[in-house]
Amino acid sequence: MLGRLARWLRTLGFDTAYDDAITDEELVRRAFEERRYIVTRDRQLPEQWRMSNCLVLESDAPVDQLREVVVHFGLEPSDRLFTRCRICNAELVPATSEEVEAQVPASVREHQTDFVRCPNCRRVYWEGSHTERMLSVLARVFES
Ligand SMILES: [Zn+2]
Repeated sequence: MLGRLARWLRTLGFDTAYDDAITDEELVRRAFEERRYIVTRDRQLPEQWRMSNCLVLESDAPVDQLREVVVHFGLEPSDRLFTRCRICNAELVPATSEEVEAQVPASVREHQTDFVRCPNCRRVYWEGSHTERMLSVLARVFES
């Protein structure tokens, strides 16, 4: 249920694991093993598992959830913005126009020379109008 929040956190460059099919037991074990905080909507989880490194969100809306996370952990606007794959969390690597030819429309490649690619899922990213929309959402999150 928190997939969109996970994407926002990855956009900011934070190492964010997300698995909507994970059991509570696996979730708790993985958080322990990988030294992660759990962010959840499940109010019972912290008590049931005696977890202290757990944030229970109030909101259903992804951007409001992001605001809750930012406030709770005192996050600053990151200089690691757009360095992780929004889909799978891997760190992105630079790619040339030739390398992404098969995946990026020619109309984009005409105007754009800077690309990054996910070494894991092969997705390609570049700066565009979607980047500006995301930045304006993030500006609102951090100014409040
Ligand atoms: Zn990826």
